[in-house]
Amino acid sequence: MKLIYTHENRFLVGNAHNILEQAGIRVVWKNEFASSAIGEISPFDTWPELWVVDDADYDQATTIISSALSKPNAPEWVCKSCAENNDAAFELCWNCQTEKMETAQ
Ligand SMILES: [Zn+2]
Repeated sequence: MKLIYTHENRFLVGNAHNILEQAGIRVVWKNEFASSAIGEISPFDTWPELWVVDDADYDQATTIISSALSKPNAPEWVCKSCAENNDAAFELCWNCQTEKMETAQ
């Protein structure tokens, strides 16, 4: 397994997870629930991590993540369910997991 993505915001990691699963790449969480047991551990050590199960998928996963997370011209979208702003790369609302509503642009 290889680490593909980590971020202090678990919702961003969750969206990366969704993007990769939709691409057919098997990924697993690590530290998903660490934030509930911080204690003596520094916050950095409790960031959720996303790992690619099959090393052969790593290069493709890197490409998918980097392209999904770097769309400077894509507008953010507002969740129709909870009105949170979401990055254009994400297909699900980070807050309530509602699917992105397709709109003409
Ligand atoms: Zn929402």
